[in-house]
Amino acid sequence: MSHMRQTDILIAGAGLAGSTAAAMLARAGYDVTLVDPHPIYPPDFRCEKLDQSQIEILKKTGLADAVLAVATPNRSLWVARFGHLVEKLKGAQCGLLYDTLVNTVRAQVPPAAFIAAKVASIKTGPERQNVLLSTGEEISARLLIMANGLNIGLRHQLGIDRKILSEAHSISIGFDLKPAGAAPFEFSALTYYPERSDSKMAYLTLFPIGQSTRANLFVYRDMRDPWLSQFRDAPKQTMLAMIPKLETLTGPFDIDGFVKIRPVDLYVSEGYRQAGVVLVGDAFATSCPAAGTGAGKALMDVERLCNVHIPQWLATPGMGAEKIAAFYDDPVKNAYDAWCNKKAFGLKSFSIDRGLVRTAERWAKFLLQWLKGAVRQPQERSTVEAPGLVPAQMPDGEQAYQPARARDMV
Ligand SMILES: Cc1cc2nc3c(=O)[nH]c(=O)nc-3n(C[C@H](O)[C@H](O)[C@H](O)COP(=O)(O)OP(=O)(O)OC[C@H]3O[C@@H](n4cnc5c(N)ncnc54)[C@H](O)[C@@H]3O)c2cc1C
Repeated sequence: MSHMRQTDILIAGAGLAGSTAAAMLARAGYDVTLVDPHPIYPPDFRCEKLDQSQIEILKKTGLADAVLAVATPNRSLWVARFGHLVEKLKGAQCGLLYDTLVNTVRAQVPPAAFIAAKVASIKTGPERQNVLLSTGEEISARLLIMANGLNIGLRHQLGIDRKILSEAHSISIGFDLKPAGAAPFEFSALTYYPERSDSKMAYLTLFPIGQSTRANLFVYRDMRDPWLSQFRDAPKQTMLAMIPKLETLTGPFDIDGFVKIRPVDLYVSEGYRQAGVVLVGDAFATSCPAAGTGAGKALMDVERLCNVHIPQWLATPGMGAEKIAAFYDDPVKNAYDAWCNKKAFGLKSFSIDRGLVRTAERWAKFLLQWLKGAVRQPQERSTVEAPGLVPAQMPDGEQAYQPARARDMV
């Protein structure tokens, strides 16, 4: 007699995408099994803050209350360009470490649905998906959701590859900042755009997580650039050499603890239109951390998959490739993915291209934002909404996402 465990939906990977999918599907009453080698998601330098548009998507997953309860909202957001404070906006983002985010979502998954193991091998088809775990256990599912992030090995088993769109597109640097004296920082959150275009930097963002001030610096450099090891050895000096006016806004500061440096390739999977298996989050495609869209993309994938497509797929027999295609052809997902890519390449070009047009655009952006900030009465300045994404109606009544104003792309 076979003891193979049976489930409706098996999810390989319990990062943000997989855990969110498991929580949503379990709440909707599906028999779901979530597999990940880490019983608790370990500390990892990934997305560390959510903006308003990402929170809006999170609300549609039903998990926003749990996540917002452990996040730190910023009270206001100062914006500096060319070393000058140009605007003070109302806070509209919240900070939380990635492991806190994922573990909070995981806590919404019934414990019995989670298995601590690696998915070792998979065999997929239009009826059942057979999965072998690193523990030796075998599981049979109607649908396999691949949410295993950057790990390409499993996808290769199905002949799925990845097309690199931009190698080491940007480099993210994460660290903690603390005031040098006893007084706290005057700002709650600060986004600091470069003082010069040859600094190869997108921006520095400072934001609160609990009692700490977290810093994410996004740069466009070759991984062999000696500047990176200089930064690791002497972060404060290297950063101030690049943006010397920073301390006029922050006051004297120190860098606290480890500096984490991670490059990100932009890629999209290829050969993924197959029966029985669907790819979400980074398993499908990555996006640029500097553009701040990866978490939104993972959440958007899962929200569309679990709210729209899976209920339809499970309502009829079979799991053929034509069913799965409806997810990849989803207009809301496609519009969001396209917007993420546009933002990734647009921000890089805006930040480092030194041609006349881009230089003029940078100055226009500075002047416009400075003028807006200057004409506002002091009491109004702190109540202006931070730029983000607003939902836009698609012709079919669905919502897509677009920048609140065209210029807020960067
Ligand atoms: C440095 C950095 C900074 C970032 N900053 C931002 C930001 O500011 N804003 C933003 O929106 N996005 C940001 N992102 C992007 C965002 O964090 C990711 O797009 C998002 O977290 C992807 O989630 P995921 O669930 O797809 O993948 P992951 O969170 O990586 O989850 C994958 C999971 O799969 C598991 N797994 C792997 N192999 C197997 C296997 N064989 N069997 C079972 N499980 C397996 C792993 O253990 C892991 O738990 C950043 C990314 C990086 C790298």
